[in-house]
Amino acid sequence: MEIAIIGGGASGLMAALAARSEGCSVTIYERCKRVGRKLLATGNGRCNMTNTGACIDNYYGHDPGFIIPALKRFWVRETMEYFGSLGILCKTEQGGKVYPYSDTASSVLDVLRREAAVTGVKTVCDFDVCSAKRTRNGSGKEFTLKSYSGQTVAADRLIIAAGGKAAPDLGSNGSGYELLRSFGHSITELRPSLVQLKTEGDTAKKLKGIKLNAKLTAAGRIESGELLFTDYGISGPPVFSLSARVTPGDTVSADIMPEYSKEQVEDMLFERAAYLYNTPIEEFFTGMLNKRVGQTILKQCGCSPLSRTAAELSPEEIKRIAESIKRWRFRITGTMSWNNAQVTKGGALTDEFDPHTMQSKLVAGLYACGEVLDIDGDCGGYNLQWAWSSGRIAGLCAAQ
Ligand SMILES: Cc1cc2nc3c(=O)[nH]c(=O)nc-3n(C[C@H](O)[C@H](O)[C@H](O)COP(=O)(O)OP(=O)(O)OC[C@H]3O[C@@H](n4cnc5c(N)ncnc54)[C@H](O)[C@@H]3O)c2cc1C
Repeated sequence: MEIAIIGGGASGLMAALAARSEGCSVTIYERCKRVGRKLLATGNGRCNMTNTGACIDNYYGHDPGFIIPALKRFWVRETMEYFGSLGILCKTEQGGKVYPYSDTASSVLDVLRREAAVTGVKTVCDFDVCSAKRTRNGSGKEFTLKSYSGQTVAADRLIIAAGGKAAPDLGSNGSGYELLRSFGHSITELRPSLVQLKTEGDTAKKLKGIKLNAKLTAAGRIESGELLFTDYGISGPPVFSLSARVTPGDTVSADIMPEYSKEQVEDMLFERAAYLYNTPIEEFFTGMLNKRVGQTILKQCGCSPLSRTAAELSPEEIKRIAESIKRWRFRITGTMSWNNAQVTKGGALTDEFDPHTMQSKLVAGLYACGEVLDIDGDCGGYNLQWAWSSGRIAGLCAAQ
């Protein structure tokens, strides 16, 4: 049996190796010059392969429960064992993030490519699939693929592993959705995720370039780490993580002194006002907070002009300042573009696929895996885990 796989990314490579292990003839059709380009960029070049805590709560989509069979069949332990068998020694870092011990994403791609070569998976690069059809042709094959350059190939089974729309420079340009649509599949609303957030007003712009250690809260989730102010809004690891959950109109609340309680911050400010009583409040935060951040908070709390002395701050003003430090609110107006995003929120409606096999319920012999499906995960190795798991299942089941 001949299996064609559109896309040589994480899920496509995994699907190919699984299908090949069942004895099928497998060909990956990849639009880029090489397979796995995106993999090289993952985890800042270190490839955060999975997360030891990955569970259903880390995944989103119309029906996150779609991942449950994958979770039972081929999940974190099986993935780490599988990569171990290919030669990857894994290490687990803070937050359960798993990386190759070599700290290089290229080693993950290297072992996948080596295994593909050794086992006889065929890869055809520079093959940008423009159409996929289920038409019995002369050779008796079920599917026919055409490339933009006019090549035509046929296969008995087809796996669409073409990724989403995020980071198009790395290969996935959303064409997988169009291919699935052409088979009658529904595509849910698509949005960038794991991406920087745009905020209302010009506060972030005025503070552009400043980094703070902060605890961010939004949509019932808390994320800590470095918060970065930019031209358009906010960035940094905790912002990326929250972007999977927030929607325009939501508010992100930043605690910029997370080591202290609100009462402690209030006490500190009252004491400060007492010993700096003669100092203009322009200097009130010198030595405690970034100067521009401090001045912005003072202005937002209505404490202008900044030439007033600390002694002139009223108890209500001091309480308002403490509240701002602990709950500095940023209203989200949107996200940065697909070019900046790591993953796609939304995708092919999972109701139309069998979660045990990844096979289409509309077209027999058609499978999909990875980001092209309406499943996205948090930041921290969860998206690759989905790519490995769904790819493995699609490959094994397509081969049966
Ligand atoms: C910068 C960056 C860093 C990331 N870091 C991490 C991380 O550390 N951990 C983590 O879990 N996740 C990370 N992600 C997300 C993760 O990489 C993706 O979710 C995952 O790669 C999706 O796998 P996939 O196989 O579905 O799609 P992809 O890996 O995108 O692969 C799809 C492939 O299909 C090819 N293709 C598309 N259309 C066609 C077509 N018409 N014809 C032929 N080929 C086609 C593309 O060129 C591409 O090679 C990161 C993403 C980015 C952009």
